[in-house]
Amino acid sequence: MTKLDLPKTDAIIVGSGPNGLAAAIRLAQAGWAVTVVEASPTLGGGVSSAELTLPGFIHDVCSSVYPMGLCSPFLSTLPLEKHGLEWVFPPVALAHPFDDGTAALLHHSVDETVAGFPSDGASYRRLIGDLVPRWRELFADVFTPLGKIPHHPFLMAKFGLNAIRSGRGLARSAFTTEKARGLFAGLAAHSLLPLEELSSAAIALVLTIAAHARGWPFARGGSQQLTGALASYLKSLGGHLITGHNVESLDRLPPARAVLLDVTPRQFLKIAGDRLQGSYRRKLERYQYGMASYKLDWALGRPVPWRAPECLQAGTVHLGGTLDEISDSERRAGRGQASERPFVLFAQASLFDPSRAPEGKHTAWAYCHVPNGYAGDMTAAIENQVERFAPGFRDSILARSVMGPAALERQNPNIVNGDIAGGALNLRQLFLRPAPSLYRTPLSRVFLCSSSTPPGPGVHGMCGFWAAETALGSE
Ligand SMILES: Cc1cc2nc3c(=O)[nH]c(=O)nc-3n(C[C@H](O)[C@H](O)[C@H](O)COP(=O)(O)OP(=O)(O)OC[C@H]3O[C@@H](n4cnc5c(N)ncnc54)[C@H](O)[C@@H]3O)c2cc1C
Repeated sequence: MTKLDLPKTDAIIVGSGPNGLAAAIRLAQAGWAVTVVEASPTLGGGVSSAELTLPGFIHDVCSSVYPMGLCSPFLSTLPLEKHGLEWVFPPVALAHPFDDGTAALLHHSVDETVAGFPSDGASYRRLIGDLVPRWRELFADVFTPLGKIPHHPFLMAKFGLNAIRSGRGLARSAFTTEKARGLFAGLAAHSLLPLEELSSAAIALVLTIAAHARGWPFARGGSQQLTGALASYLKSLGGHLITGHNVESLDRLPPARAVLLDVTPRQFLKIAGDRLQGSYRRKLERYQYGMASYKLDWALGRPVPWRAPECLQAGTVHLGGTLDEISDSERRAGRGQASERPFVLFAQASLFDPSRAPEGKHTAWAYCHVPNGYAGDMTAAIENQVERFAPGFRDSILARSVMGPAALERQNPNIVNGDIAGGALNLRQLFLRPAPSLYRTPLSRVFLCSSSTPPGPGVHGMCGFWAAETALGSE
């Protein structure tokens, strides 16, 4: 079997998603010679952009909104602005419209946010008020794998007691207004769990605190610019990057001090072949993938005609109305049934970044959750939800790109049957991803570094960072 011909290297990183690049950067910072090998012709995995619809319209193929990238304890230390990254901050992080033509808004300021639901203001402040000013300390612990002692145990306990709860339970016990409950439900739906499941509140708290701490930015020019900045910084540290090479077997890789795999358990089983045996193999075989996503991108002739005009101030808009409706949509997706009125995560980057579309024109990005491997068509259901809160939206569509679970997986094998989280985020897999050994595998000098390891999905690079630390500590 021919070995992959690489420059002399200490570490090989398979996959150039944000975790692969973060791992490579951390090792290069420690003085290691690193080579990243990427299957796709372009770098970035879930952080990429392309003209998916018409020439001149730049769409984010997967991720688009980066509160966790901005607040990441590792990525925030890197000189990415010097390497071409410019964050774009919409004036409002998130808008959540309702059928009566009003909207709840998640502002940078807590005061402005609670002005939208004054009778729940005190509860909102109780929930996150103390945590916002201490977000750096909190996130340093939140983005650290289980097993390491938190640096700020009391802060973590205050966060953890609510984070461990179900999104629905916390929304109902903390708030009384439909506005605050609906807003919180949309945030909790980022967990990709039914909102009745324990720990589905965690991501809602993280995203809320991040909005008040720093904001929910886009990357100017498209997500590829974030990947470009990470790759450029890696090169400045001496790292090498190879694209268009799918690593099919560990046997094809030359010897190295460490191999870090930015892949999920299913691909690891394939790449490792017979080398993986026993209980570890069985754990990976039993690893659960979660609900899938169904994604649309549009080229638009004008801004979205929101009934609540304040939605035009927000980078992200959550379409699903009340807590009950959002819970229903996510419960169905979790149980293997697509919702006719799906909860839709919608982003409108070109309103704040004109470089994304020809003058006067716009882009929009949206997805909803569907059952793992769903083969139906959600185009009409998603567009109906936009139309519900923005009558006339359909008339503004110039072109659309549609990616169901299979299409998402074709462009990135880590999106197994459309699961964008690298595996279900139920309580066990939230902490012990994909097995209790986390980044370590039974294979000498082979580590996992993808979002199938803690702290899980999202563009924060912390899975890669901790995998690299584990490799450095294993020397
Ligand atoms: C539609 C969608 C929307 C999202 N929205 C957001 C968002 O707005 N904000 C956010 O923070 N997160 C978002 N996410 C999640 C985020 O993109 C992922 O959590 C993140 O990209 C995971 O990073 P990763 O490095 O673990 O893996 P990936 O980004 O998936 O990268 C893995 C890379 O490894 C490569 N690879 C796999 N196997 C091989 C092989 N055998 N040989 C060589 N290369 C290989 C793949 O081609 C890919 O480039 C979204 C994801 C999707 C799909």
